[in-house]
Amino acid sequence: MSESGGILYVVGIGPGAQGHTTPAALEAIDDAQVVVGYTTYIKLVRHLIENKEIIRTGMTEEISRARAAIERAQAGARVALISSGDPGVYGMAGLVFQVLKELGWKRGEPPELRIIPGVTALNSCASLVGAPLVHDFCSISLSDLLTPWPVIARRIDAAASADFVIGLYNPASGRRTRQIVDAQAIIRKYRSGQTPVALIKSAYRKLQHTVLTDLDNFLDYEIGMLTTVLIGSSNTYVYEGYMVTPRGYTNKYTAEGEVLKGQRPGYSLVIEGSQTRKDVS
Ligand code: SAH
Repeated sequence: MSESGGILYVVGIGPGAQGHTTPAALEAIDDAQVVVGYTTYIKLVRHLIENKEIIRTGMTEEISRARAAIERAQAGARVALISSGDPGVYGMAGLVFQVLKELGWKRGEPPELRIIPGVTALNSCASLVGAPLVHDFCSISLSDLLTPWPVIARRIDAAASADFVIGLYNPASGRRTRQIVDAQAIIRKYRSGQTPVALIKSAYRKLQHTVLTDLDNFLDYEIGMLTTVLIGSSNTYVYEGYMVTPRGYTNKYTAEGEVLKGQRPGYSLVIEGSQTRKDVS
């Protein structure tokens, strides 16, 4: 163990199955002497960490988890703090910076920080239901444990009115069931009841389960802490049981790849009746 200061790896392990953990994440875990994480994530990588010191903590102990990882790394250990999915998407990376800032840490001082990206739930969940995120999308967490509900509601309203595909993280838990009902009502103001909605639970884990339904009916199904909810835009459609958001190629090309009359490849789409686009038509 080096006395000059250790390394803090903040590692995203992806959705669950090892095949979806990047080689860089596996290398970081392999290099670490100490592994810190929420019990469920420790379990997901237990086969990789047999001879390592493990610091497990519960769900609500995130600050103490980040602090423990930082302290051990500052003392010279190589530490892997693990997050599911990507550590920078509703993950531990933000908290690491918050604690470092409180401690007055400066770049160049120990510990050395290495943030290892992972496959976030939006990516893994989308892959299980088709291609729902091929056009503009946004993600919103429905957890109001740390963010006031009016702020979340305003973001849902803005995303819905701007016709984004919406990915909802943390949609509900045992105690938190009202938010997803309110979210549905807000989105329904702007979108048809037939808008495709996918519910993906435990993607790439043992209890994986997906449901493809629509905006009017998705609340009839189980939605919990391990579910991600994907709500289509006005262009999203269902094809052969897949949820698909088109990129817009049919605005410019025929199915044979011919350019439609009035359009030019590599130039902005010409909108009918638009004055500003006459110069390129
Ligand atoms: N850092 C994680 C997100 C943590 S927030 C990431 O990048 O994926 C926790 C929320 O993520 C859950 O409530 C759920 O909405 C979503 N989630 C995480 N893993 C998931 C999985 N395997 N399947 C479905 N949703 C998942």
